[in-house]
Amino acid sequence: MAPDLPESLKMPETSPTTEKPEPLIDSHCHLFLPEFKADWPQVLERARQAGVTTIINLGLDARTNQEAFQLADDYPELRATVGWHPHEAEKCQKTDLLDLAQLAQRPDNLAIGEIGLDFYRSLAPKDRQIQLFHQLLDLAAQLTLPVVIHTREAFAETVAILKAHRPTLGRILIHCFTGSWDEAQAYLDLDCHFSIPGVVTFPQAAPLRHALGQIPHDKILLESDAPYLAPIPRRGRRNEPAYVAYTLLALAESLGTRPRQAAQLTTQNARRFFGL
Ligand SMILES: [Zn+2]
Repeated sequence: MAPDLPESLKMPETSPTTEKPEPLIDSHCHLFLPEFKADWPQVLERARQAGVTTIINLGLDARTNQEAFQLADDYPELRATVGWHPHEAEKCQKTDLLDLAQLAQRPDNLAIGEIGLDFYRSLAPKDRQIQLFHQLLDLAAQLTLPVVIHTREAFAETVAILKAHRPTLGRILIHCFTGSWDEAQAYLDLDCHFSIPGVVTFPQAAPLRHALGQIPHDKILLESDAPYLAPIPRRGRRNEPAYVAYTLLALAESLGTRPRQAAQLTTQNARRFFGL
């Protein structure tokens, strides 16, 4: 909590022993990754304890798309999407695209994502990332599915491409949004939603917290991006869905709401965005 927070906002929301936590939705994670092999049941149990009722696993390539749906078949609180991460863009062959289009038509598939551009690590050539991004946005439009966007060091290109596709696309979620109000405005012009990661708890995230004070509340979702980007006080360790409870506190403060209200609105927004 910030030192300048009014006393009224510092009141504890509820006693955890007498009331159930407000339901939370972790709108973005990757629980199929090896980081979760050792303590999988405990990770899910801690998420339940924290009130996380739905966890969305986003596929990253051919194998993890399958794994995300396997998990969704096995656990009622887990849901899945079909995606292809820009890091893996070069590995995506024609046959992969066909398989992906097929899998994306599963009635329980929530979205196309994560997809996008990453010029920070540039693990795949730029032109191939851009080509694949166009192809997957076209697929989302054909199947009338929402899209979940990964973008890093590629703001101008991402906005330009989304703008070109905007007329045919449905809902757009900017995953792991950590940008400024200027960036947020460009995305709002395209009617995008934003999912907010644990970065909002970091001291250097002041521009993000400022942006969150101005973004319309019905555009904001909550995410872990587990196993990455754990919030303070878990920063630097493996992230997991239960920790969205920490992210929620910083998010609520930025929005000028109580944590309970922030929980309700992010859960409502995630339900509406993904059609849950
Ligand atoms: Zn991700």
